Amino acid sequence: MDPIFPQRGHAVCASPAATPADSAGPAPRSRLDRLAGLGPEDKTAGLVWLAVHSPAVCDAMLGALEQEDEELACQEPEPYCAACGADVGIFLRSGLDWRHFRGNGTTGSPIELFNAGHAPAIAWRAPSVTTAR
Ligand SMILES: [Zn+2]
Repeated sequence: MDPIFPQRGHAVCASPAATPADSAGPAPRSRLDRLAGLGPEDKTAGLVWLAVHSPAVCDAMLGALEQEDEELACQEPEPYCAACGADVGIFLRSGLDWRHFRGNGTTGSPIELFNAGHAPAIAWRAPSVTTAR
C-alpha cells in the first residue's frame, strides 16, 4: 500500500498529471472554484458574455438546466388522500389544515376545495404527469 503522506526515508512519486506549472507555484484555481468566487452580478455578466460569444455553449447549458428542472419537478411526490384518492393540499387562505381539492390550477380547471366528508388521510405518491401546457 502506498503511503498517503510523505514519510522520511521514502520517495514520493509525482502525480502523472503534474505539469511544470504545478511545481512552479500554487496550483491554479479550478474553473468551479473561480465560478464559486464570483458575486451574483459577475455571474450574470458572465452568462450574458457566454450568450453573446459562445451561443452554442449557452444553448447547451440552458437546455441542460431546463431539462433538469423539469425532471426534478416531475420527481417530487405530491400529497393525496389515502382514504379517497383525491388530491390534498394546504391552502393558506383556508388555514393550515389539509384540504381536499380538485382541478389543476389552470383557467380550464381551476382549483376547487371540497368537503369529502372525512378528514384527509395524508399520503404521498409520484406526481401525475400532465401534458397540458
Ligand atoms: Zn379523502
